[in-house]
Parts: sequence; structure tokens; C-alpha cells
Amino acid sequence: MRQSWQGLKWWVLGGLVLSLAGAGLLARQSLDTQRALFETDARIVHRLLSQQVVQHDAMLATLALLQPAAESSVGASFPEQRLPVLYSQILSVQRREPEQRWQDPRLTQAETRSRQTRRAALGALDLAAGRYQLVLAANPTSYALTIDVHAMVPWSEWPMQPDSSPVRVTLEHDGQRYVVQPGRAGDEQATRGWRFQAHKALAAESQPFDVAASLTVGWAQLPWGGMLAWVLAVGAVLAALRHLQAQRSARRRAEELLRLGQVARLNTLGELAAGMAHELNQPLTAVIANAQAAQRLLNDDPPDLSTARNAMLQAAAQGRRAAEVVGRLRQAVEHPDRNGQHQPVASVEAVRRALYLLEPECQRRNVEPELDAAHAVTVQADPVALDQIVHNLILNALQALEQRPAGERRLTLTVRAQGGNGEISVADNGPGIPPEVLPRLFEPFFSTRDGGLGLGLSLCETLAQGMGGALSAANAPHGGAVFRLQLPLAEGGLP
Ligand code: ADP
Repeated sequence: MRQSWQGLKWWVLGGLVLSLAGAGLLARQSLDTQRALFETDARIVHRLLSQQVVQHDAMLATLALLQPAAESSVGASFPEQRLPVLYSQILSVQRREPEQRWQDPRLTQAETRSRQTRRAALGALDLAAGRYQLVLAANPTSYALTIDVHAMVPWSEWPMQPDSSPVRVTLEHDGQRYVVQPGRAGDEQATRGWRFQAHKALAAESQPFDVAASLTVGWAQLPWGGMLAWVLAVGAVLAALRHLQAQRSARRRAEELLRLGQVARLNTLGELAAGMAHELNQPLTAVIANAQAAQRLLNDDPPDLSTARNAMLQAAAQGRRAAEVVGRLRQAVEHPDRNGQHQPVASVEAVRRALYLLEPECQRRNVEPELDAAHAVTVQADPVALDQIVHNLILNALQALEQRPAGERRLTLTVRAQGGNGEISVADNGPGIPPEVLPRLFEPFFSTRDGGLGLGLSLCETLAQGMGGALSAANAPHGGAVFRLQLPLAEGGLP
């Protein structure tokens, strides 16, 4: 149970990391794109507005240049008055003749500044209303333009939809501000999210306005659809992978079980045992009957020696038959075909293989096996036989543990080197082995379990002895049974 949760935990963690990383990347990409678009728009806005204000300088300069012609036609119409007709942002053009004074003192001050700086200067400025004046001092006549900021913006070339664009654009000077386009509502106060800003002075020193653009991208503007799709895709892919892994693991386990042939083998042995019992019964009955007959014939007066001899010959023949039957059983148990296949085997690997094969059995019984293998111990063994012994011992322990409440079941496997041997012990905290059962434990066909064959431990002992080892059983001091399998260490079996 704990193992499967452990496995799941890593999958969930991996999924979370992948989801967060992917979603973060998508959000970042979207923000980068929005920032790039914003910066492009801000640059275009600055260029367009700069072109416009530079045009005002040019208009004033042209008016100043054209003066001699205008002077020569005193009393004629003033050509500069045609400017508001041609340019919608020019609300009016005023002129000051040499002998006149400006009506507005701000124009007088602006003209003085213009004369000092030798370029146009700002007169009255009312950015809130979208108006300002631009004065150029010239001789003999000076000129002043009154400009409408809204009409100055070249809307046909504007890169954004002024009503719906989320970008806010303002023109600022001296604490005053004209809102060219308002941007997304509440943009200025927005504190949550990401804020992009661009601030730059227009390219005309006579009209020192700053053009300010800003864009706030809130959490709501992140690409949630794409991010959600990514998270779902990660979840789906990981679920599919996990499913595939579980399937592969189950298939591998089934293949291993089949390879080991443990279950099939025990069944075969069970059938064999039933057959053997039947076959043995017959010659043994015959041996007894012949021996009794010989006894009777020898007791006769005179004793019938020849018939008695015949009966004894019969008894001996039946005895040999019985021995053959037993020999066959032994052969089947001892795997003579595998003799000579002993090789160095890592004990802990045999234990792990058996635990792996019995994982479903452990889970079904709510048992979490503990493996204590501090050192690598390599023994000289037949790997298949070793697997079978460990498998049998663990299965027996699991069966014994069924008699304990589910929460208290303990199964401990220990691998260590002990007195020149490698030792694998399987300890459980089941009911233990009653004293009267202990001496008979390794007898073939001895079983206390309903439907038990009583062949498991006897087979294990035979296999252990076949590898030059030994199998022993005992009760643990604090309850439960301990089975110890000792096998000779392989050369260099200890690290
Ligand atoms: P069976 O298949 O009948 O269980 P085994 O040879 O495997 O045959 O075991 C023989 C007997 O040994 C069992 O019936 C049981 O009484 C006893 N035994 C084996 N392992 C344990 C154990 N871990 N705890 C208590 N008794 C055990």
C-alpha cells in the first residue's frame, strides 16, 4: 500500500512540476509578446506625435520667412489666416505688428523666451482642455498658433483602436496632462499584474511634451485557456504512462511467475504425491501380507520352507518396488537435471525477486515486508532452487500472518553472513510453531493447514541440502516463526 502511494507521489509531483513549468512558460511567452507589441505601439505613437509637433515649428518658420511679401501688400488679406482651413489642429493664427502688443501677457512672455532661444516657445497651455499656444518671435511681425491637441493626432495612421485599446496614452507637461486614449479602465491604479511603461519627450524642443504610454496586464489577461489545456495534456500523458507502466509491470510479474513455474510445480507435486501414496500403499500391503504368510509357514510343523522362501522373495520384490516409487519421488524433488548448475547468486536479489512476485499477496494481506540487508552476500546456489525456497518461506509466513489482525502483521527478511555461510532468514509475527509440530515440520506430507499438501518445507529442505546448505525453523523470542536458510558463500561472497 505504502509502496504504491510512494510511486503515485512521484507521479503527482512530476505532474505538478511539469504543469507549473509549462503554464509558467506559456504565461511568460504571452507577457513577452504583449510587451513587444506594446513597445512597438509606443514607438509608433511617439514618432507620429513628434512629426505633428515638428510641423508646427515649420509652419511658424514659414510664416516668419514669408513676411517681406506680406509686408509689401499691407492692407491685403493675411495668407496665414488660411492655415486653420488647411490644418484642422490649428484653431487660430495671431500676429503682432511691430507697433502692437499681444493682448494676452502669456504671449508676450512666450515671445520674449522665443527671442532668447531663437525658436518657438509655448504660450498659454491648457492640456486638460487639449489646447496650447506656440509663439515665434520674428521681425517685424511675430506669430502665434493656437493648437487643438485632439485634432493634432493623426488618427488615420494611429496603430491602435483608441476606444478599445488597453494601452493608455497621455501627453504631459508641467504637471498637466492630456489623455490621448484612456486605455483599460482602472489601468493607473492597477497594482496586481504586470505593468509596461514607455516615457519619452517629443522630438521638438519648442513643444516639450512627454508622451507616456502604459499597459497593465492583469492575472485575468494571462492565457488561461492555453495553460489549462497544457495542464490537462500533462495529466493525460502522465496517466497514460502510468497505466502503461502498471500494465508492463503486471505482465512482467506474470511472465516471471510462469518462468519460475512455482505454482504449477507445487500442483504437479501434489498430484504426484497423491499418486505416490496410492502406489506405495499397494507394495507395502503386499510386503506385510507376504511377511505374515512366511511367518505362518515357518511356524507350521513341519515348516513349509519352500513356500515361505517364495513369500519372502515376493516381499523383497515388493519392497524393491516401493523403493523405486520413493526413488522416483526423490528424483522429481531433487531436480537431478539441474545438478552442477550452482553459481554465485546475490542473496538479496533472490529475496527481492520473491518479494516482487509476492507483492500482490502481500498487498492483499496488508503486509509490508521489511528487508534488512546491510551487506551484499553472494552464495553458491542454483538460482531457481534458491528462488523457490525463499518464495515458499515467504508464502508460508504470509499464510501464518493471516491469523493476526491486519494492522499488526510484520514480515522481516534478513540477509547476512553467518559462520562462513550466507544466511537468509524469514521471520513473521504469526502464531509461531507449536512445540509438538516443530520436529515434524520438514516431514513430507506433514501439514496443519486445511488443504495443505505438506510438501513445501520438505521440498525446500531437500533443495537446500542439494546445494550444500541447510534449512532450520524456530520460534522467535517475541513470538512468531523464524526460518533460516544457510548456503555456502561463493568465493569472495562478501564485499
Ligand atoms: P503446507 O503447504 O501444508 O503449509 P509446508 O511444508 O509449507 O506445507 O508447511 C508445513 C507446516 O509447517 C504448515 O502446515 C504449518 O503448520 C507449518 N508452518 C510453516 N511455516 C510456518 C510459519 N511461518 N509459521 C507457523 N507455522 C508454519
